[in-house]
Amino acid sequence: MKTLCMAGMLLAGVAGALAGDVVLGVNGKTRHQIVVPDEYANPIARASVEYSARLIQEVFATNAITMEIVAESRKDADKHGIYLGATRFAAEHGVDISRLDGWQNIHKAVGKHVIIAGNDMTNPIQPGTPVATKIRVPYYVTLHSTAEFLYRYAGARFLKPGDDGIEFLPVLVVSVPDDLNTIQEPYFREHDWGYYKDDIYLFNIANHAVKFQKIWSMWGHQHPVAVPYAKYGQSHPDYFIQSRSLRVKNTDHLCYSNEEVRELIYKHILEKCDEGYEIVEVGQPDGFVPCGCEACHDLYGIKPGTCTHGAPAGFRGTISSILPMKAVYWWNTMSGSCRSTCCRSSTESRGRISMPI
Ligand SMILES: [Zn+2]
Repeated sequence: MKTLCMAGMLLAGVAGALAGDVVLGVNGKTRHQIVVPDEYANPIARASVEYSARLIQEVFATNAITMEIVAESRKDADKHGIYLGATRFAAEHGVDISRLDGWQNIHKAVGKHVIIAGNDMTNPIQPGTPVATKIRVPYYVTLHSTAEFLYRYAGARFLKPGDDGIEFLPVLVVSVPDDLNTIQEPYFREHDWGYYKDDIYLFNIANHAVKFQKIWSMWGHQHPVAVPYAKYGQSHPDYFIQSRSLRVKNTDHLCYSNEEVRELIYKHILEKCDEGYEIVEVGQPDGFVPCGCEACHDLYGIKPGTCTHGAPAGFRGTISSILPMKAVYWWNTMSGSCRSTCCRSSTESRGRISMPI
């Protein structure tokens, strides 16, 4: 009975696949080759495509199918191709990889051929840039595209980091719709991912755990960058916290009731947006210490003249209503407007409140 059912499923699968699908593998056979570019634009593109090709080979091997990897100029003309990356075939069939933005990638069927591609490139963040991440993950976009393709159509499951973390579920018929033509990108981008360094971060990349790239951050603590004591300490001691009736010297902690302090932080956000960062993360100095001046009394309820170090932390809700303690600022390059969490209506209207944290 089980055999009959399996045979029935197989026949149904084949019949279904033939009705309008491109069959990539069935019954231990394939008419496809994995086709890679003859040349690569950069080492990242080579690594991304070569890893992708090996991954496809493994998936098909699970189904007892041997699939060759060939350079485009050496492709067997009698076979169909699974074209990876920036191949001539892709360009000749309307896939302009340079127009794909960031991690956007394409799955496309052309007759019996399939294109899987993205714009592989190095990470634009240069060493020394004050960013939150120490791992500047390159754009392995074709690899992400391939992993997603294999997840959708070939039974690949990326369950944990490492070679033993990938499961390839047997699939009776590996096929894709013959009208396949989709552009997709990772579902979830974030910048605090703990990255698992299997040789190319496949676990993260396959699971849509892709880091934001153009992010301006100082591990979340930007206020001291916007209002540095080295620059303002002498001329504007009132920018900084007061404790025991005295303004504190050489501190990163600010007096947030001061309009100019808030304005400097706001301008700092706009400057970074103008420099092209997609996200500007702004947070208070680490180990926050509230200000004990008269004007800040309404923010924190701290009796002026007392020591503010170790003050109770019941202030956050109050100060968040004036300036979020941590915020994410989005730069919309299409409209040229900065969509931020604390852009205030009293300032030039390039921003608006969107997402307090
Ligand atoms: Zn104050």
